[in-house]
Amino acid sequence: MRLIVVGCGDAFGSGGRLQTCYHVEAAGTRFLIDCGATALIGLTRLGIDPNAIPSIFISHLHGDHYAGLVWWLLHAQHVAKRTAPLTVVGPPGIEARFTATCEVLFPGSSVVRRRFDLKFAEITRKRPLQVGPVRATAFEVSHPSGAPSHALRLETEGKVLSFTGDTEWVESLVPAGLAADLYIMECYWFEGAPSYHMSWKTIEANLDRIGARRVLLTHMSERMLARSSEIADARVALAKDGLVIEL
Ligand SMILES: [Zn+2]
Ligand SMILES: [Zn+2]
Repeated sequence: MRLIVVGCGDAFGSGGRLQTCYHVEAAGTRFLIDCGATALIGLTRLGIDPNAIPSIFISHLHGDHYAGLVWWLLHAQHVAKRTAPLTVVGPPGIEARFTATCEVLFPGSSVVRRRFDLKFAEITRKRPLQVGPVRATAFEVSHPSGAPSHALRLETEGKVLSFTGDTEWVESLVPAGLAADLYIMECYWFEGAPSYHMSWKTIEANLDRIGARRVLLTHMSERMLARSSEIADARVALAKDGLVIEL
């Protein structure tokens, strides 16, 4: 399994980083985890062909995590001339939110006749999904987005890749990342309790019982980035756009 950080920034451009998007190659397939508004820019920088990606998993319906689907659609239609089917997995209501966003930003774009099959699949805590070779399980977290916000646990090739999405600390983050090969964890501040986000001190206090082999901190604010050199846990790495991790 090979993970490429396409974008690991927050919603505000902190550190000049692109918005959330991870590219994963595993079990003969590829997928994205989240598709922030800047996803296409990041993929282009890295030379990754969007047409080679058959599925996208979305953690929650905030623009810095899903709005890139709008540009993806336009690009697929007008530039990449996509013909391969695309499955977008996300929280309940994702299709309606996507359509509404398309219509606000590019009126008429959602009703253009497509050359490819675009399918939305809703995932919930009670309904894990098998998407090609990837088993996806969602865990509800605490982060208001007008729909349930999720942490995701993705399993394939005998590996577990987990992602907290955005959230303050909740107990569901333990089973979501339990003994994962890599747990991507949002870390907005170094310490304290930012509303609906996490700090490093909270993450650190829970790492032992989560038991993830490796942890990648992401979605860092300027104040977190300024203190990131204080983190000295051998399990923990800091995300950076373009970073590649082999699992
Ligand atoms: Zn975010
Ligand atoms: Zn968010």
